[in-house]
Amino acid sequence: MKKQFVLSWILAISVACQGSTVFAQNAVNSNWVAQLQNETEEEAAPTDEELLEDAAKEAKGKETHFSQIAIEHEISPENYIPVLMYHHFEEGDVAPGNGAIVSIDEFEDHIIAFQEAGYTFISLEELHEIMQESALEKETEGRKPVEAPEFELDKKYLCITIDDGYRSNYELAFPILQKYQAKADISVITSRIHTSYVIAQEIEKLCWKDLNVMQESGLVNIYNHTSNHIKVSEKPLPSFRNAVERGEDMLNKNLTKRSDIRVLTYPNGDYTFVSQILMRKLGYDLQLTTNYGVVTRNTSVNEIPRVTVNSGLTGEQVLQKITAAAERTFYPPEAKR
Ligand SMILES: [Zn+2]
Repeated sequence: MKKQFVLSWILAISVACQGSTVFAQNAVNSNWVAQLQNETEEEAAPTDEELLEDAAKEAKGKETHFSQIAIEHEISPENYIPVLMYHHFEEGDVAPGNGAIVSIDEFEDHIIAFQEAGYTFISLEELHEIMQESALEKETEGRKPVEAPEFELDKKYLCITIDDGYRSNYELAFPILQKYQAKADISVITSRIHTSYVIAQEIEKLCWKDLNVMQESGLVNIYNHTSNHIKVSEKPLPSFRNAVERGEDMLNKNLTKRSDIRVLTYPNGDYTFVSQILMRKLGYDLQLTTNYGVVTRNTSVNEIPRVTVNSGLTGEQVLQKITAAAERTFYPPEAKR
């Protein structure tokens, strides 16, 4: 009698627990659906301060992330392509070490240093072409072993990327790009691109007209940095996918011409294995991260590393940073030599 009584209590408790688990799951599911339905640009969008803070964080902390495999190699600039990352530009001095803001005089000094070092500025379209050719060479058994990371290019190539879409890109950086005929590609947060209004106290963003003027020059292409700059890790994947698709739709609607390739620049450089596959399926030819390193023959198009350019660096120091990034890419510290 006593045993049965205890047993029935255990059963009753376990049924109650199961019931509450199901109830809790339903609550989570309906929250999740409500989140997807109610998501608006206004709620979702981070402030400028948060954007710049995030960008500065990108500069730190990620310098130990690698995906390349080390083997014996030759680290010469013709064997890799650095992709640099800038954000906002300011006139006058910027406190050194800022990963999100660079003074425009420094930017000009960088461009001059790159040219003097013999670099040719290429677009992400051209980077993609080089990567495709080398992938083809691997498939058809070229002159090099399949695992060789060296590109063996005819020149030293370099890509400049600029994130988030600040108006300083047009007012300060674009004249420098024109002066030196340097190419750069800009990834914009599409909901922040202004049409007719400016939100109080916000750092001014680009407008569609400026973006179209820059693209017309042939020096700049505009790409997708999502509609709201929400990180992959912060929302369910369908929500991230929506932000990517909204971003691409807005670019299609407002730009007078589009690049031959699709590029996604991950907010904060955050991505997952699943997001890489999903974005590839959606047709993205290149996925830009903030992993520290340079592009080699072994780099995945779904995981393009970049070198953050901080404030306070001379052109010569940026060149040193590129060399250091190349060394770390060809010989990752965690790999066996
Ligand atoms: Zn960003």
